[in-house]
Amino acid sequence: MKIAIYPGTFDPVTNGHLDILERALKLFDKVIIAVARNTSKNPFFTEDERIVLLKQATKHYKNVEVDSFEGLLVDYVKHTKATAVVRGLRAMTDFEYELQMALMNRKLYENMETVFLMPNEKYTYLSSNIVREIARLGGNVTKLVPPVVNKAFKQKKAVRDNFIL
Ligand code: ADP
Repeated sequence: MKIAIYPGTFDPVTNGHLDILERALKLFDKVIIAVARNTSKNPFFTEDERIVLLKQATKHYKNVEVDSFEGLLVDYVKHTKATAVVRGLRAMTDFEYELQMALMNRKLYENMETVFLMPNEKYTYLSSNIVREIARLGGNVTKLVPPVVNKAFKQKKAVRDNFIL
């Protein structure tokens, strides 16, 4: 059974993430999406919210699990008996950081490969960051994220508007 870990912040999951997931599912028997808990980033959606959104957005896929991890990715990979980590590459700007991480992870645990997958071109400009920014400024993100995420943005906005009023 070939297991891959797809780690990230997923704040929130976008259609770009799902594109990479679908490609990974063609290569592996099971993909575990692993939300990183110890990130220095200050997330917009809480860890629990990100996990719930990921579970809802991926419920129609077979062989996908959603989990979270703390500490070193390589330790989590060993623990799950996975053989690979999947990362998405959008542009050259992703490359330098990803190469550094992949080579460092190999130094820490040589039995694991990092597999880079390229999304459909239409997702190369898409990031969780940009989606959050558009939503914050009142723009429409319907075509960029799964429907559950669109709904979650609307709920957050409603809570904030009520709070301000
Ligand atoms: P991280 O904080 O680890 O970068 P992200 O949630 O931003 O986490 O992304 C997780 C993974 O998904 C990364 O490998 C990232 O490059 C990839 N990814 C994010 N958005 C896209 C996209 N639109 N197309 C392809 N890969 C993507």
